[in-house]
Amino acid sequence: MTIKKQSSEVLIVGAGLSGLALATQLVNKGIDVQVIEARSRSGGRMFSVVSTKNNTDSAYFDMGPSWVWPGQPLINRLLKLMNIDVFEQYSTGNLVYEDEQGLVRRDHDYSTMAGSLRVDGGMQLIINRLKESLPESSVLESHQLMDVKTFGDSIMATVKTRRNTIQFQSKKIVFCVPPRLTATSISFQPKLPTDVIQSLKSIPTWMAGHGKLTAIYDQPFWREMGLSGDAISRQGPLMEIHDASPQNLECGALFGFVGFPAHSPEREPSVLIDNAIKQLGRLFGPHAANPVDIFFQDWALEPFTATQQDALSGHHPDYGLTDNIKLMCSRGIYFSSTETSSYSGGFIEGALEAAESTAQLIVSQSN
Ligand SMILES: Cc1cc2nc3c(=O)[nH]c(=O)nc-3n(C[C@H](O)[C@H](O)[C@H](O)COP(=O)(O)OP(=O)(O)OC[C@H]3O[C@@H](n4cnc5c(N)ncnc54)[C@H](O)[C@@H]3O)c2cc1C
Repeated sequence: MTIKKQSSEVLIVGAGLSGLALATQLVNKGIDVQVIEARSRSGGRMFSVVSTKNNTDSAYFDMGPSWVWPGQPLINRLLKLMNIDVFEQYSTGNLVYEDEQGLVRRDHDYSTMAGSLRVDGGMQLIINRLKESLPESSVLESHQLMDVKTFGDSIMATVKTRRNTIQFQSKKIVFCVPPRLTATSISFQPKLPTDVIQSLKSIPTWMAGHGKLTAIYDQPFWREMGLSGDAISRQGPLMEIHDASPQNLECGALFGFVGFPAHSPEREPSVLIDNAIKQLGRLFGPHAANPVDIFFQDWALEPFTATQQDALSGHHPDYGLTDNIKLMCSRGIYFSSTETSSYSGGFIEGALEAAESTAQLIVSQSN
């Protein structure tokens, strides 16, 4: 095992939206940063896939977040700055409703997500642009933080790569990782105070218990049937479905959130995909039972997103940091994922707000 050493003023853990946005803001203020990311890709919960089937290889499908909203200033400003187009969630036509007995009705003139916006090219585009704007090698993927030691005003982080163990020295370390995951997967020396660990563990990771399935078709045929692509089902396996077609309509797509709990036998991928295809056929007709491609992302099984506790998804909590967690900055330790934002916490907008407030705090302390 080789031990290499690297140093930076600020070590940012996690190259999701909050980590990358924080890195760009600190770099713009002349602060030297290093971002480390455990996965072999950046983006975290923002994750778009591309289908190689049926010539749809320029269409990206979001397996994490799909929507932003017009009233969110930070994400709309960032999209404008990056010249990234948004388009309205398709919501013209009727919603399909399936009751507990499997009775299907297609006469509800109602849309659950009307007015929300989708990103042309998928959410991954935002991540790619942020990454490209940073100096070369400032984001290291497949670099997993294992433990953190603090000595006086210096921090030493042990990071595992595919081949090596690397020690990163910095003055500050920022966890752009869900708080609960930080508390359960990273070891600290000296240990974090017990009340801080408890507070971090009590913050649920937004959407971490969810599963999302996307079915791709040659075209959005449901639109010609007078349907919006929205569906609500009391039978499942998908409980809430929406149109996920790309803006240029080079193909059609429907996505659905899985209604069965994480780790249940009904969520086993082959069972789930089989039943979801049958369900799509019941809801949208026989054409829907023949997708050209299908993707399933089970976020509850992602070790760099979800903890055991996150398997139970609940209502949107009030997010933000308690004072005991905030006080950790006196040791050079900061927390800055979307869950730390009391404004729009959980959402993309919250990840940007967390980045903005952490950047302001670090810059003010550096002056
Ligand atoms: C299915 C789903 C649907 C969603 N829908 C929406 C929506 O429509 N609109 C919306 O606004 N929001 C939505 N969200 C929430 C949105 O995705 C998040 O708010 C946002 O992506 C959070 O970004 P983040 O950077 O704070 O955290 P994350 O994206 O979780 O980033 C954390 C990063 O830390 C990395 N990491 C973890 N552990 C380590 C380690 N030990 N060492 C190094 N790196 C590590 C992870 O790999 C990850 O890249 C959805 C989320 C999901 C899962």
